[in-house]
Amino acid sequence: MIPGADEYDVDISIDSGAVERLLSVMPEDVAAPSELSFCRNVFIPLTTACRYTCTYCTYYDPPGEATLMTPDEIRERCRQGARAGCTEALFTFGDDPDDRYTALYDQLDELGHESIHEYLRAACEIALEEGLLPHANPGDQTREQMATVADLNASMGVMLETTAEVQAHSGPRAKSPGQRLATIRTAGELGVPFTTGILVGIGEDWRDRAESIRAIAAMHERYGHIQEVIVQPVVENERWRGGSPDLATMRRATAMARAGLPADVSVQVPPNLAPARDLVDCGIDDLGGVSPVTDDYINPEYEWPAVRELQAVADAAGVPLRERLPVYERYLPDGLRAPAVEAAPSPTDADGWLSPRIRAAIEARDAAGERFRTVLAGAAD
Ligand code: SF4
Repeated sequence: MIPGADEYDVDISIDSGAVERLLSVMPEDVAAPSELSFCRNVFIPLTTACRYTCTYCTYYDPPGEATLMTPDEIRERCRQGARAGCTEALFTFGDDPDDRYTALYDQLDELGHESIHEYLRAACEIALEEGLLPHANPGDQTREQMATVADLNASMGVMLETTAEVQAHSGPRAKSPGQRLATIRTAGELGVPFTTGILVGIGEDWRDRAESIRAIAAMHERYGHIQEVIVQPVVENERWRGGSPDLATMRRATAMARAGLPADVSVQVPPNLAPARDLVDCGIDDLGGVSPVTDDYINPEYEWPAVRELQAVADAAGVPLRERLPVYERYLPDGLRAPAVEAAPSPTDADGWLSPRIRAAIEARDAAGERFRTVLAGAAD
């Protein structure tokens, strides 16, 4: 039984036969991709407050030290991103800040917002105004919280990390695998294209990894909403001295993800944390987001170092590198999707996966719309 599954009423069953089969998967059992994709994004750390204290995490700040970006800061960051050709505003968060963060809630109050999700909605509006497609990753969310922002996001995400109870999540406010799966289920119910992933090396064993992958697969088989699964190694930092998984572990975990997930779910490794060049033959087909804003956004005619590095990974593998939007093409409606790309059936049906706001942003006859369509035209090549 997955810890927290009862509490959050998560009723997936993980096929033990499929887990056994995954345990024997090795890199030579999966195929290399025919291309690699990536997305140009701009990082917007809306708040560094988090109710949890995962022992490997340097993102969160304790109460009294946590930051909240102001609307002006958000707008300026989005403008930088748009000028640099980005398509995605990646809103990063801690997990639902609790009431120890009094200064943060005072700041929200001064800004006229009652909750962090209400403020996130305003931030997504700014991103859209500045010509970017929001992708918010605000940790666990209730249905009400996600519904507050879903129509202003092209896609959303949260890392499952693992279905196991691990020491790295321990403490008075430990995050629960059941709650993560409930968030992933909520995204499916609301028809939100979703990104999730596993974190490798935080105390889970091989069976836990296989079960985590099968849990994500089960959610996708029910709703069809998982667009990509990140296989992310934990890395050493000022709070984590527990080491990182070695290359052999990352190769096997990546191959396991490729073999254990439906073929329409992309497998991604973050090239800044994992040796992407040595993982392509294990089945990855996406290199995630790169942010040119921290590099040379003033001279966009020169290729950014990060994009050059991704191109080198693709060249070494002998496959093309293609830019994508923060929402994968199969979630786009007819007319925006290349004819060869099969549409993902929407669980909510009606308007498909994109809200009218996001669809209009992609279709707009303005500079942003042109940027989005250029990316889509590249995908259709
Ligand atoms: S929930 Fe996320 S942001 Fe919060 S401490 Fe854990 S890893 Fe860090």
